[in-house]
Amino acid sequence: MKDIIVQKFGGTSVADTDKIKNVAKAVIRERALGNDVIVVVSAMGHTTDYLVKMAKEISETPSSREMDMLLSTGEGVSIALLAMALQAQGCPAVSMNAMQVGIMTEKVHSKARIVDIKTDKIRQHLDKGEVVVVAGFQGVTEDFEITTLGRGGSDTSAVALAGALKAKRCDIYTDVEGVYTTDPRVVPTASRLEEISYEEMLELARVGANVLHPRAVETAKQYNVPLRVRSTFKLENLGTLILGVEDMELHKPVTGVASDLSQLRVVVCDVKDNPGTAAVLFNGLAEQNISVDMIIQSYARKALNTNDIAFTIDKGDLDKTLDILEKVKAELEFSNVFVDDKIAKISIVGAGMIDRPGIAATMFKTLADLGINIKMISTSEIKISCIVAEDEAKQAVIGLHKIFHLDCDEIAEVKGDLPDLD
Ligand code: ASP
Ligand code: MG
Repeated sequence: MKDIIVQKFGGTSVADTDKIKNVAKAVIRERALGNDVIVVVSAMGHTTDYLVKMAKEISETPSSREMDMLLSTGEGVSIALLAMALQAQGCPAVSMNAMQVGIMTEKVHSKARIVDIKTDKIRQHLDKGEVVVVAGFQGVTEDFEITTLGRGGSDTSAVALAGALKAKRCDIYTDVEGVYTTDPRVVPTASRLEEISYEEMLELARVGANVLHPRAVETAKQYNVPLRVRSTFKLENLGTLILGVEDMELHKPVTGVASDLSQLRVVVCDVKDNPGTAAVLFNGLAEQNISVDMIIQSYARKALNTNDIAFTIDKGDLDKTLDILEKVKAELEFSNVFVDDKIAKISIVGAGMIDRPGIAATMFKTLADLGINIKMISTSEIKISCIVAEDEAKQAVIGLHKIFHLDCDEIAEVKGDLPDLD
C-alpha cells in the first residue's frame, strides 16, 4: 500500500486562481513521489472574514446555526476550484465536503469538535488513483446539521484526517517558512527550527506563535501524526517538523521565546483569607466561560486575615469579569479591584528545561539586567512565563532570545546549512 500524505493549504495559499494552480503543482509533485494524497483547503483569502462581515451587516446576533451554514460555503468554493485545477493539469481529482466524507462532529455550532471521521469513501477514491480534495473547517452532526470547528479550524481538519487514515505525515502549507524561535518580525535574527516537539509547539501556540491552531497540535499529538509546517511559496524548503519528544535529538534547553499581548491583569485586593474564597471567585468566572491563565495569591496578612488575588484573562473578557466581581463583592468583602491592561506575557519554552533549575534563574537575571520588572511568574514543566509591562516586551524577547543562544548566526554555526527537499 502507498503512504498517505495529507497536505493542507491555508487561505493565503489559495487566495486567487493563479495561486490555486500553483497549489495544484505542489499536490502533483507530492503524488509524483509515489504517495496517495489528500488535500485539505481553507476558504480563499479573506473569504471567511468577508462572510462574517456580511452576516453582521444583516444582524448583530445571527444564529450560530446559520453562521455555520454561511461560513462553511467558503471552503466549498476552494475545494471545487482546486479539483478543477488538478484535473486541468492532468491529475485525477475529486472534491468532497464534510458531509460527503463523514467528518462527524458534536452538535455545537461555531466551535464543534470532531468525534469521528469515516474513511471508506475517501479510500475508494484513493484506490481509483484520485487525489481527494476535502473541505477544511466544516463538519456534520449525526442528524446532518452543518457545523464548523472554529476560526482557523482547517488545520485541525487536516490533522484529524491524517490520524483517521493513518497518514505518514500531515504537511501544513502556509505563508511562513516554518516555526521560528520567536516572531521574526520582532527579532530579525530569529531562526527557523528544523524540529520541535508537540508539547513545545502547544505551549508556543498558546503564548502567541500564530502558526498553527492549538487543537491541531493536540490532535497530532494524540494520534502521533508527524506534522510539517512549510511554505507554499518556497516548496524546496523543508519547513519545521513537529513530532513526539521521544523522536527528537537532544536539544537546547530553550526552543523558543514568545510574547503575548492579548491578556490583562486583574488584582482583587484584601479578600478574606478563608476557605472557599478562590472557589467562589473562579467558579463565577468559569460559569461565564472565562479562561483564567495565571493566578497569584499573596501571602496572608495575618493580623487582618486578608490577602490579594491577582489573575490574568483575555482582554475581551474584562467587562464580564468586572460584572462577576461586582456580584461576589459582598460575599468576598474585598476592598478594591485594579486592572492593568498594559501587560505582556513573555514565555520561554523548551522540553530541554526539565530538571534544569538554572533556566528560570537565567530568565529572571536577564530581565533584571535589562531593568525589566516582573509582575507575575508562572511555570510548567517546559515553560516559564513572566508578566512584564507591555512597552518592555520587545526588549525582553530580544534579550532572552540572545541569552539562550537562539539567534540565527549561532544556530547556523552549529548546524550548517539545512538540507534540501528530496
Ligand atoms: N476559513 C476558516 C477561517 O478563516 C478556517 C481556516 O482558515 O482554517 O477561519
Ligand atoms: Mg485561515
